[in-house]
Amino acid sequence: MLSTTPRQGDYIAGQQEANVVLTSLADMVQWAQNYARSRSIWPLGYGLACCAIEMMAAAQAHYDLARFGSEVFRSSPRQADLMIVAGTVCTKMGPRLVRLYEQMPDPKWVLSLGQCATSGGEFYDSYYTVQGVDTLVPVDIYVPGCPPRPEALIEGILKLREKIEKQGLKIKGED
Ligand code: SF4
Repeated sequence: MLSTTPRQGDYIAGQQEANVVLTSLADMVQWAQNYARSRSIWPLGYGLACCAIEMMAAAQAHYDLARFGSEVFRSSPRQADLMIVAGTVCTKMGPRLVRLYEQMPDPKWVLSLGQCATSGGEFYDSYYTVQGVDTLVPVDIYVPGCPPRPEALIEGILKLREKIEKQGLKIKGED
């Protein structure tokens, strides 16, 4: 017996026509560049406190950050795209953190992992703790928690992917 229920891929008059996309060569190249960058974000191997243990766990077999192309933690800032600020930033570490950030090649991104890096956390208003790493370097993604679980870090990296995919492109409905 013949089924009249449309299946995926069947031609339905008036629907396929809506899927035409117009773009420019520059936007296509930009999209391809963004796509490649977003799928190979190499983090700097840089941990400051307990949040770094969660970052290390994310790269291990159980959470397998390699599924998203970000397991290649680099020992040199010159080979890294992403600075994961994993832990408490003390005032003495601040200038070193800025130097490492400046040594990373462009384009580069920063992810603030945990309450301490984002706002000082439990060391709020203390004289020796930086009250948010965004007072030192520009932050692209904030991951909340104390400590944030490895899944939360992976979610943050996926959000960063989405952000990179849109860089430099004019997307209808978004400014
Ligand atoms: S947010 Fe919590 S787990 Fe992370 S560095 Fe601060 S105290 Fe440690």
